[in-house]
Amino acid sequence: MAHKISILIPVFNEENNITIIADAINKVFEKIDSEYEILFVNDGSTDNSLTAIKQLIINNKQIKYISFSRNFGKDNALLAGFKYAKGDALITIDADMQHPPEMIPEMIELWEKGNDVVYTYRADRNEHASNFNQLSSKMFYKIVNNLSDVELEDGIADYRLLDKKVVNVFNNLHEDRPFFRGLIKWVGFTQTGIPYIPHARVSGTSKYSTKALVRLALQGITSFSVKPLLIAIYLGLTFSLLSLLYIPYVIFSLYYHLAISGWTSTIVTIAFFGGLQLMILGILGIYLGKLFMQSKQRPNFIVKETNIIE
Ligand code: UDP
Ligand code: MG
Repeated sequence: MAHKISILIPVFNEENNITIIADAINKVFEKIDSEYEILFVNDGSTDNSLTAIKQLIINNKQIKYISFSRNFGKDNALLAGFKYAKGDALITIDADMQHPPEMIPEMIELWEKGNDVVYTYRADRNEHASNFNQLSSKMFYKIVNNLSDVELEDGIADYRLLDKKVVNVFNNLHEDRPFFRGLIKWVGFTQTGIPYIPHARVSGTSKYSTKALVRLALQGITSFSVKPLLIAIYLGLTFSLLSLLYIPYVIFSLYYHLAISGWTSTIVTIAFFGGLQLMILGILGIYLGKLFMQSKQRPNFIVKETNIIE
């Protein structure tokens, strides 16, 4: 029985990569016996990406697109694709050719063997990334894994195959700003991973900065655990124990009528605890903010136009 595969490509300012990736995918499917559709999600590109997609559609009816009203971020672009994809399995792949399309047949094969999630991980982690990026990526996983309840592996890419079952789980998830890398692990099912060697970007620039990485780390931690809230309790406990050590000194000073040692120690204490309290307020604030955003029930994305007929 022939099945259908949806190829989902998030696009944010990739005008020069659209034709290249579509051609590469078409070429892959010439050799395998599967129906397929290519689904571009234009995540509010400000260049000519949408025009490039529409140009492709003239000659290729398998190509579908959804175009957002503005940039909503990659995770939301993926989420939109999940809702519109019609395949029995779905493969998410970057538009910049960093994810080698030649791996698609192998992914489909593993899916046919009964895997519900086939994910990929970088074989040579970050060969194309700078030292600073390597370091920040390492730190990202260390921090997230220590503070979170899901185990994230280093080097996991957003290049993966998901069975329709898994896609449906995501379609029924009502989470504001879903954190995919964590959620994929969290859903369970039968999962398997295959290594890949990332290519350099063909055209354009990476959209992720270090600032975005820090934001992603914070999101990864606070989407999956309330452990940071415990920090407040541990810190409070530690400092009240430490302050006990101060008591003998106070009694000693009182007994010997030592001069009060000025305001330095007072200021230091106030500054220190002031900072500590602000930090903890910040942590509380993040969780409160999440509740606030979730309570508004705003959509994760807004579709401006599409060629998909429901
Ligand atoms: N992307 C997107 N919305 C964004 C940022 C990125 O849809 O806000 C897409 C981008 O067009 C590409 C993929 O997500 O297809 C990965 O982005 P990028 O190559 O910039 O990330 P990197 O490979 O550096 O992690
Ligand atoms: Mg890339």
